[in-house]
Amino acid sequence: MTTDGDTMTNASATTAKTVLITGANKGLGFETARRLVEAGHTVYVGSRDAERGLRAADLLGARHILIDITDDGSVADAARTIEAAGGLDVLVNNAGIEVRGPGNSVPGAAELTADQIREVFETNVFGAVRVTHAFLPLLRRSPAPVVVNVSSGLASLTLVSDPATPAHAYPGVAYPASKTALNMVTLQYAKAFPALRINAVEPGFTKTDLNGNTGVQTVEEGAEIIVRMAQVAPDGPTGGYFDAEGPLPW
Ligand code: NAP
Repeated sequence: MTTDGDTMTNASATTAKTVLITGANKGLGFETARRLVEAGHTVYVGSRDAERGLRAADLLGARHILIDITDDGSVADAARTIEAAGGLDVLVNNAGIEVRGPGNSVPGAAELTADQIREVFETNVFGAVRVTHAFLPLLRRSPAPVVVNVSSGLASLTLVSDPATPAHAYPGVAYPASKTALNMVTLQYAKAFPALRINAVEPGFTKTDLNGNTGVQTVEEGAEIIVRMAQVAPDGPTGGYFDAEGPLPW
């Protein structure tokens, strides 16, 4: 697997692409859509709610597509619609959730239930697989297909097990476990489909609804690596895990 940071930074959009971003009605997905529209790409703002999605797409000058990534029928409908409109070059699996309790707390190891972790995996792992599976036939027809899986620094077994890193202090179980699973999904897909560029990215701790707006970065900063990897060159990295500074330890 190529994990060359230099190749990554040389990657740029040379031709206009058709891009789908799931969960793009707000947060990092919305900012990624804004930047990719600005770069001249045709962008589908994926949203599970028609009203929120249409509003976001109108604001951005993008297309809207209704897609609930936990629903087979919704994902299949979205794939049929985008196929009929001409196909897809870039899929950004961005939609994600974390379970939160009172006071924005996440359930730690003592509180977490099987239902809670299942709910998180349903979106963060099975949702990304469901969408990728449905759109693979379209992507494989693209001359330069790309998948970006929006992961997290909390996915890194190396970082989370190191007391010297901020990731070590995170008490939640479901969300980090789901993103570690997503990283493995990324790696295995990249090996299975060498013609595609498939990478996992860590945006960094960003102020969005996901964390009750407690993040320390702006969405502009957080979206940087997503935007860069969505525009990765055909000879750029695949099967890697990156933040804005370069490759991360798994
Ligand atoms: P956000 O503002 O809460 O946005 C999440 C988006 O996902 C929303 O558009 C939400 O739609 C959508 N979504 C949730 N479940 C969905 C489903 N079943 N089908 C379709 N869309 C769904 O959070 P964010 O911070 O921008 O998160 C974006 C991605 O970045 C996530 O994968 C997250 O894990 C990752 N990430 C975030 C941070 C951070 O610090 N913020 C750090 C690392 C990684 P609704 O509006 O309908 O709820």
